[in-house]
Amino acid sequence: MAKQNVILFGIDSLWSDHMSCYGYDRLTTPHIDKFATQGVLFENTFSAHIPTTPAYASMLTGMDCFSTDVVALRHRGGLTEDVTTLPEILRGEGYETVCVGFTGNPSSRGFDEYVNFRAWGSWDERPLHKAELLNEVTLPELERLAAGDKPFFLFLRHMDPHAPYLPPPPYDSMFYSKDPCDPSKTSMEPVKAFKPFRDFHLSWMPPGITDADFVVAQYDGEIAYMDACIQRLLSRVDELGLSDNTLIVINGDHGETLDEHDCYFDHHGIYECTLKVPLAMRLPGRLPKGVRVKGYNQHKDLTPTILELLDIETDIAFDGRSLIPMVEGKSHTHESEFYITECTWMRKHGWRTPEWKLIVALEPDFHFKPEVELYNLIQDPGETTNLADQEPEMVALLRGRMEAYIAKREKEVGHTNPMYTNLNWHGRKNYDGPFKSSEDAYNNMHIGSASQAARLQAGNKKVEGTVEEKAKDD
Ligand SMILES: [Zn+2]
Repeated sequence: MAKQNVILFGIDSLWSDHMSCYGYDRLTTPHIDKFATQGVLFENTFSAHIPTTPAYASMLTGMDCFSTDVVALRHRGGLTEDVTTLPEILRGEGYETVCVGFTGNPSSRGFDEYVNFRAWGSWDERPLHKAELLNEVTLPELERLAAGDKPFFLFLRHMDPHAPYLPPPPYDSMFYSKDPCDPSKTSMEPVKAFKPFRDFHLSWMPPGITDADFVVAQYDGEIAYMDACIQRLLSRVDELGLSDNTLIVINGDHGETLDEHDCYFDHHGIYECTLKVPLAMRLPGRLPKGVRVKGYNQHKDLTPTILELLDIETDIAFDGRSLIPMVEGKSHTHESEFYITECTWMRKHGWRTPEWKLIVALEPDFHFKPEVELYNLIQDPGETTNLADQEPEMVALLRGRMEAYIAKREKEVGHTNPMYTNLNWHGRKNYDGPFKSSEDAYNNMHIGSASQAARLQAGNKKVEGTVEEKAKDD
């Protein structure tokens, strides 16, 4: 039998709680919902290492942050040669590999070809057509790969739910027809007051905006728009006769903080909104239809799962494990408590169990948050009440479990936890090492304009089709 192709949707900033197949009350993902009924949907998939760079590193290697040694958005240097990426493994198996929308990031190492599309813009340049532009460059690639005699691996990084949220009509008004500048609303005041992100937010939001619900509706509109555009690709896969012989996976790098936790319209803070990502996969004849798997899993499990579905064996000792035993009911769950990290706009780590979450700051943060946070995820799923002072024994217990795990992993990989060594994670040229105070972090961290944010993700290379710089901080 011919080797199966792989199409991996690695969607940036898609919080699974905002997808209708995960129970969201807005019908944001009708096509992905249908896709999920044709295969398997995982209900508890977590991004343990946020944001983009460490998350994709884990997704595309089957390793955790100790093995990839990547924790920071602004990771310095390439991906360690100690790990092999999924495209590198598949190339070794005779696959042709293409990466769409993720050029220049250390985590995208190993593809034969890189293709890009425009994913950034300002309010004046609205609407953005990110997913259509992705389709425009992807469809010819898909047709070329389908006509070739090699199996292929096509990796697609959609940027729609990633800010700026500027979907085209009718999606821009699909979930909101009120006045975003209603003078009686005040929910945008704290967003506008937050200096590190203010210039970026104001560059793509309507002038005079007062209602944060409008921005949330644009995020949801982006998801619905992308969902429709993804269906075009799925239809083309069908037309090309590839559906029965192609493993299609829909995953995301991390979620998004909308108007919760003061981390507005970005993906920092290791709260549930950034950790919860979708995972659905379809491979007719190999994966069952309409199965929903409740067991816990993380990005590090994806590469071993894909390789098992393709019947490819390697001698790599992955940190993750295949999810197929869970799909087949032979295993109930993978780790239900696990280590979580973020090194985006704050340097924090923590320990998550099904009931509790501990968050520990490794240095003062620009939101002036407490050094230790403890949430009961059952009684307070929105993580609104910090119980750290009331429950010192639970803090000590979880901290002990986290530190024991860190010590174990450091011993296994033979180096210090990268969360402890990435001390210039913030990339500030004028500030060496960890911030000494929240005031320092607040005054030194600045995302800048949309074009600066774009460059940050592309390793500071110039990104085609971005808006003019409106602010400068470095
Ligand atoms: Zn991302």
